[in-house]
Formats: sequence, structure tokens, C-alpha cells
Amino acid sequence: MRQSESMEMWRSLGLDLEAHDGLLRVLGDAYKQIYLSQQNRPERMDYFNFVISEIHGLRVKELLDAREEGRKVIGSFCLYVPEELVLAVDGIAVGLCAGADVGTEAAEKMLPRNTCALIKSFFGFKIAGLCPYTEACDLVIGETTCDGKKKAYEIFCQLKDTYVMEVPHTKSAAAMALWRSEIGRLAAKLEEVSGREITAESLRAGIETVNAKRRALQRLNALRQANPAPISGRDALLINQIQFYDDPVRFTTKLHDLCDELEERVKAGVGVVPADTPRVLVSGCPMAAPNWKLPYVIESSGAVIVGEESCVGERGTRNLVSDAGSTVDELLDALADRYLQIDCAVFTPNPDRLRHITEMARAYDAAGVVHYCLQFCTPYSMEATLVGRSLAEAGIPLLKLETDYSMEDVPQLQTRVQAFLEVLRQ
Ligand code: SF4
Ligand code: SF4
Repeated sequence: MRQSESMEMWRSLGLDLEAHDGLLRVLGDAYKQIYLSQQNRPERMDYFNFVISEIHGLRVKELLDAREEGRKVIGSFCLYVPEELVLAVDGIAVGLCAGADVGTEAAEKMLPRNTCALIKSFFGFKIAGLCPYTEACDLVIGETTCDGKKKAYEIFCQLKDTYVMEVPHTKSAAAMALWRSEIGRLAAKLEEVSGREITAESLRAGIETVNAKRRALQRLNALRQANPAPISGRDALLINQIQFYDDPVRFTTKLHDLCDELEERVKAGVGVVPADTPRVLVSGCPMAAPNWKLPYVIESSGAVIVGEESCVGERGTRNLVSDAGSTVDELLDALADRYLQIDCAVFTPNPDRLRHITEMARAYDAAGVVHYCLQFCTPYSMEATLVGRSLAEAGIPLLKLETDYSMEDVPQLQTRVQAFLEVLRQ
């Protein structure tokens, strides 16, 4: 997109142009260092490079063009918000979680300092006028997952029109009844906002589109089980991040194109790194774009990440929604079923996640697991103790890391990761 056109668009969205320019410069430099410097990358990562280069340009323009046509853009911060429902009213779903240390000072005037970096970041982007996606949204959907987020929405709704879904914290029958009613309440809200009725056909089409996207991501993950790994963890994370922004049909096609190339690599025994490179699974908090810090630290220390047990990873893609129902109610039941299977650490107890981490470590032939926790994230830091015990029983080494979005602790993280890799090599 031409620079003058982009500037005009950003101005119309009310962004702080000077600060935004600075942000794009910093991100461009980071992308060069973390992504473009990689050796032996699959050629079809080109599409994803292009998406990143236009992430605040062409894609935002697509959203604004869609709004001109009367479609609604719906933002969200969490896996519990079903994209299928947004598609069923011909809307566009975008992920708004933010992964950069931006506007922190301003955010800390509204939020306690001991709030996780993810929450501070989405506030910071909004207050500093740096996120074209937030500005392009007609409605933001929040959820009562962790305490930080659910209280943050009480403030965020003063900055942006926000609707909050109630996510239960157990998986009991009563919790399921509440969750099913919340799915129905969101469906009604989206109908009201869009002026469109959800029909069995429109909902099934939404389910098929999102299932197809998840199947493509599952295909990518399955290919990463090969040794040597055909793609880096950094690139796989990037793809998982882009799926929250890109058009779902186009994304699915492009990801299959990439997987075709990866399949060839696997057949030919071509890896992004040699076969004896230590293989690591990352588990824990989501890494929202452009949070590439830990994968960079791990892979530049001599390991390869082969899987992510994360919302920006397999936690978000492993289960599909059944499209067997023939009425809207039956399809909403199927949505409720699938979404309540997500094993976020806000649930208690959460044995599925513990089991799944061990299963993933084995399936991906990971020599060890790095548990990634954002500072001040109580659900994941508490659960890390149980993760450690369950992996110890399975004989799988674990490294627990707690960090934020700043770069100050990179040398310490490198030292700890390098020591862990030494253990794995032995
Ligand atoms: S970690 Fe939990 S609260 Fe955060 S995005 Fe994932 S499901 Fe939602
Ligand atoms: S990282 Fe933890 S504290 Fe932060 S929003 Fe997610 S669950 Fe909440």
C-alpha cells in the first residue's frame, strides 16, 4: 500500500502518527533481526512476510472496506470468543491481544503496576493511539477469564464499546449450562450489532471455515513432528499469530501451500536445523504478536521449538466443532462443547492441560519443555508447579521462565536457556 494512502487511513482512525511511525520502525528492525536473518527458511514463508509488512496497511484497509459494505469488525482478546459466530453474521473477527511494550506508562495510570504485560499492552496500544485494529472494530468482546482481564474490561469499556462474555471456571454440568447460555447471549448480541440473523446455514458455514483453518494449522503441527524440523518455531509462532488477523479462507489456502513445501522437505530429509538440534516444546501463556522474544532467545541459543502448548498454538487449534447439527440450537450446543474443552489455566482443576503437555512433548519428540509465564499471571504461574510435577513423573525436563515484554532480561534468559540445553544435550 502506498505510504500516503496508509498515512491517510491511520489519520482517519485517529492514530498518533508520529508514535505509530516509530513503532513500525522498531518492529521492522526486530522482524529483520528475528525473522529475515534466519537461514534455510521455507520459500513460502514469503506470504507471511508480506502479511507482516502490510499488517497495519492492506489488512486494515480490507477491514475498513468491509465496514463500508456494512459488515461488522469484531475484536477479541481470548480463545473463548468463537470466531464462528462472528462469521455467521458475515462479520470479521480480529484478535486484539498485544505483545509489545507500548504505552506502558499511560496504561499504568489506569492499571496496577503488577498487571501482566499482555493486559498493559492492549491498554497501552489503545491509549497511545497505536492499534489500527482496535480503532477499526465496531465492538470488542471481552471475557471473564483471569481476574486481571475481567476487571480490566470494566475500565476498557470506557475507551471502547465492549461486551463481556461470562466464562465459567470449572467444567461441571452447571458451568456448561452457564456457558451454553453465554454462547446464546453472544449470538443474540452479534445479531443485534450486525442486523443479521444467524441461520443454521450461516452458522454451519462459519464452523466449516474455522474448522478448515484449524485443520491447516494441525497439518503444520503434524509436519513439525518430523526430525529434522522442517520449519523453525519462530516461523510457526508467526503463522499462529497471523491467523488471528488474516482473512481465514486466504490464510488457510496459503498455509496449505506452505505445508506442501514442508511435506517435500520432510520427504527429502531437509530441516531448518540439523537433526541433532535439541527439540523443545514451549508451554504456557499466549505470545501475542509481536511478542517474539522467548522463541528468539531459545532458537538463537541452539535449540529448535517444535510445538507450542499455548493459545497461540495447539491449545487453540486441536479441537474442531462438530457441524453435524441441523438447527441453530444444535450447532450452538456443538460450539459450547468445543469451546469448553479449551484447557486454559483459569479453569480449576485443569488436568487436561497437564496431560496434554506430556502428550505433546512425546508426540513432537521434545527433549524438554520450557514453561513460559508472563510476570504477574497468576493462573499460569500457579499451574506451573503442577506442570512441573506431572512432567517429572513422565521423566521430561522442564525449565520455568517468567518474563515480560521488555528486553532487559534477555541476557539472563539466554543464560538460563543455554544451561537447560546443556542438560538436554546430556
Ligand atoms: S490464556 Fe486463557 S484467558 Fe488467555 S487467551 Fe488463552 S484462553 Fe483466553
Ligand atoms: S497472561 Fe495471564 S494474567 Fe495476563 S491476561 Fe492472560 S491469563 Fe490473564
